[in-house]
Amino acid sequence: GSDAVRPRLKVLLAGPRGFCAGVDRAIRVVEEALRRYGRPVYVRHEIVHNRTVVEALEAQGAIFVEELDEVPPDGHVVFSAHGVPKTVPAEAQRRNLLYLDATCPLVSKVHREAERHFADGGAESRHILMIGHAGHPEVVGTMGQLPPGAMTLIQDAEEARSVQPADPARLAFITQTTLSVDDTAEIVEILRARFPLIEGPKREDICYATTNRQEAVKAIAPGCDLVIVIGSPNSSNSQRLREVAERVGVPRAVLVPRLRDLDWSVLDGVETLGITAGASAPETLVQEMVNALGERYRLDIEERTVKQEDVIFKLPAPLG
Ligand code: SF4
Repeated sequence: GSDAVRPRLKVLLAGPRGFCAGVDRAIRVVEEALRRYGRPVYVRHEIVHNRTVVEALEAQGAIFVEELDEVPPDGHVVFSAHGVPKTVPAEAQRRNLLYLDATCPLVSKVHREAERHFADGGAESRHILMIGHAGHPEVVGTMGQLPPGAMTLIQDAEEARSVQPADPARLAFITQTTLSVDDTAEIVEILRARFPLIEGPKREDICYATTNRQEAVKAIAPGCDLVIVIGSPNSSNSQRLREVAERVGVPRAVLVPRLRDLDWSVLDGVETLGITAGASAPETLVQEMVNALGERYRLDIEERTVKQEDVIFKLPAPLG
């Protein structure tokens, strides 16, 4: 319609938003593997939790599988950014598969912390409390770095209050990288109060990208009537962004995988809209959303950046 009839909409874009360095690297690993080894390249699990990314790589010749037994002998296989249990590379080796590990270096760092606390299970060994969400592939991968029983999963403050470790003096904690900063601070506080000798990172293992995106959405949400988080339902950091927005007082925050999933009625009565995107969501999805909004509204777009990011990770050794 003409400018005269299109309603106004103020749009606040959160910065940083979208791709983090670990996601960017994981996608480059698959693309580089395709370039070097040709089609197909197998990818165990969604390389990052985003359908748009997965479909784009499928179009280039990637085949996504859930388990290694779906990869034929001599196949090339990439492990996703979330990390894998130790049994997975062991199985790949046993089956002579050529594998590339796209585990984010910030997840690998947590794996090494876990191994350090475990200390080969000897006299120095500490039992580990892993703060995270059951069933998320990162948690499965991190807990799978050590033998069964070496870690106990702590999902919330309630579990932090009730956990009864065998030896409270020999305890450590680690965390998933994509948790809510505020919830995790509360859980860590409970653990430190109950177990003063517990070892762990100064605060938690939540990565820079998760922290910055939560800070950015907090900066825009209080002035918004609605916040749209572009991201997939199975993306942990995207889900946390939606919760964080709601918690700082925006009347409504919705997770929208991509434009075609947007229920336009959520915009009824909205004068100021906040937009952010999870660490696995490409910026093209944000632009697609803004363009579609521009066809219905007279937009006044403001970008609010709370932090500049310049993190870039090198590709793993065989590709680097
Ligand atoms: Fe790595 Fe953080 Fe991105 Fe996960 S969200 S891939 S830990 S940088």
